[in-house]
Amino acid sequence: MTADDRALRALTEHVEQVALVDHHVHGTWAEDGDPVALANALNEADTEPLADPATAWDTQLGFAVRRWCAPLLDLEPHASVAAYTARRAELGEPEVARRLLGAAGVDAWFVDTGWSTGLTSPDGLAALGGGTAYEVARLETLAERLLPTLDDPGDLAETFAAHVEETAATSVGFKSVIAYRCGFGVDLDPPAPRAVAEAARRWADGVRDGRAPRLDDPTLIVSGLYAALRTRRPLQLHVGFGDRDLDLAAVDPLLLTPLLRRPEVRGVPVMLLHCYPYERAAGYLAQAFAEVHLDVGLTTHFLGARGVGAVARSLELAPFGKVLYSSDAAGPAELHLLGARLWRNAFATVAGGWVSSGEWSLDDAVRVASMVGRDNARRVYLGVDL
Ligand SMILES: [Zn+2]
Repeated sequence: MTADDRALRALTEHVEQVALVDHHVHGTWAEDGDPVALANALNEADTEPLADPATAWDTQLGFAVRRWCAPLLDLEPHASVAAYTARRAELGEPEVARRLLGAAGVDAWFVDTGWSTGLTSPDGLAALGGGTAYEVARLETLAERLLPTLDDPGDLAETFAAHVEETAATSVGFKSVIAYRCGFGVDLDPPAPRAVAEAARRWADGVRDGRAPRLDDPTLIVSGLYAALRTRRPLQLHVGFGDRDLDLAAVDPLLLTPLLRRPEVRGVPVMLLHCYPYERAAGYLAQAFAEVHLDVGLTTHFLGARGVGAVARSLELAPFGKVLYSSDAAGPAELHLLGARLWRNAFATVAGGWVSSGEWSLDDAVRVASMVGRDNARRVYLGVDL
């Protein structure tokens, strides 16, 4: 074996055994999924049931499921879709989840609990996959739960701020889906208290049977961001690729620049999630603003074999101490496994190439793998300095 082969093997072995911190993830299916539900879960962008579920399998993600998940269910790599779905049904959801989640090699799950229909709780996820679960609270969900309990919706801002402060005691961070609700092309300065009170009263007019309508008012959403910033906890923002409820053109992270310049953001970690196809813009922001961090979760498993490109682009302008691993898996445990599997594959390929060409040392590649896979998240969210 040449010295180059030995270096690549050492890097791959290290990347394989990094106990990951998945800093943005959701629960896995709590009940048995059927083949149609699985096919629909392999498409993120279309919010309608797929006209032809078979189309979901002829994709990078579909191929990656058959390549990497099939062997964990005792099938050959690239097993047919029919064989895969039959074996899945035979094993049942809890056993599929135990096998796939366990093989992801995740030590800590930071679970967004804002959308949890049919999914395991954070502890339920950790019980199946091992490791420890932590909660990340979604601001818009907190507000939607709070509104119907208020005597005067005009008090929303004050009550919400107190509620967020309390929630900070049990959450490692906050998440906003402003991308989905109004996009980033809105006024991101702190709204005046009177404007917030008026917007809250308008929103409360839509409450029916004790349930708030979906929060999509930019004034209230932006006011909520500032409430979260005051807690100093990391603030996660969905950026880029998601389902078609969002306007992809309005979620370019460069549109967040006015917010990132605000004094209220100073010293508060801002975590840009997913980022595709804006990962280069996110990398620029990570260099421009001390607070900005990014990941390419969701992107990695949807790009399958091309996840290599996304992981490489995440390691362009951004300082390596500000790039984090996440899966953004939700639902079938295939996604939790593939987030980890494809990130490990891609990191070893990308950094291995730089070690081979002499651009990076093996020691540096090993160190950056640990930073991105684990240590950056532990430092930013848990205050663990290594
Ligand atoms: Zn997510």
